[in-house]
Amino acid sequence: MTTEKHSIVLASNNPGKRREIEQLLQPAAVRLYPQQEFGIDSIEETGLSFVENAILKARHAAAGSNLPALADDSGLEVDALKGAPGIHSARYAGAAADDQANCAKLLQAMAEVPQGHRQARFQCLLVYLRHAEDPTPLICQGTWEGQILTAPRGDNGFGYDPLFWVPGQNCSAAELDPGTKNALSHRGQALSRLLPALLEKLG
Ligand code: IMP
Repeated sequence: MTTEKHSIVLASNNPGKRREIEQLLQPAAVRLYPQQEFGIDSIEETGLSFVENAILKARHAAAGSNLPALADDSGLEVDALKGAPGIHSARYAGAAADDQANCAKLLQAMAEVPQGHRQARFQCLLVYLRHAEDPTPLICQGTWEGQILTAPRGDNGFGYDPLFWVPGQNCSAAELDPGTKNALSHRGQALSRLLPALLEKLG
């Protein structure tokens, strides 16, 4: 017996996010197409919140592909930095910054912050639109609490994972295997909340 798969475009060009979302969606009858397959470029993230940016991204991908779209807008909030880098996490060290440059800038910004004051959290906002003009988007959020390390640890994951200490696991997010990260992370939490409603919408 074959199960018919529902096609969804993923509104992201970030390979780290894509890997995690693909793994999280494996149990669902969903075929995920990266937006690059339709020649869709990243859209400018002009919103002031994660949810606004996730809606902008999902709408752009749905319009360019004529498929339902799933977008993830996420980032790291550091208490000692008044919530920075926040919605600017991907471009913290500049428009063309990579993960290494962003982590270097974060370490520098946190250099004088003592232990006990290094609390931080990842936020993830997921938005699913059935089409570009869908007036009732599905929106789910996940939050993952941790602390900022003083030096990078681990090679897994992406982004700020090497600097994110996961208290319950006694290691950094980049030292977790992918399955454990997905079971705990902001993205895993948001997706497990989204999935039942998504499956209902897909019929
Ligand atoms: P976005 O494409 O604007 O949503 O950028 C999200 C940015 O937040 C990424 O480029 C990473 O720097 C950071 N980020 C989001 N989720 C994670 C994660 O799971 N681990 C590490 N960094 C993350």
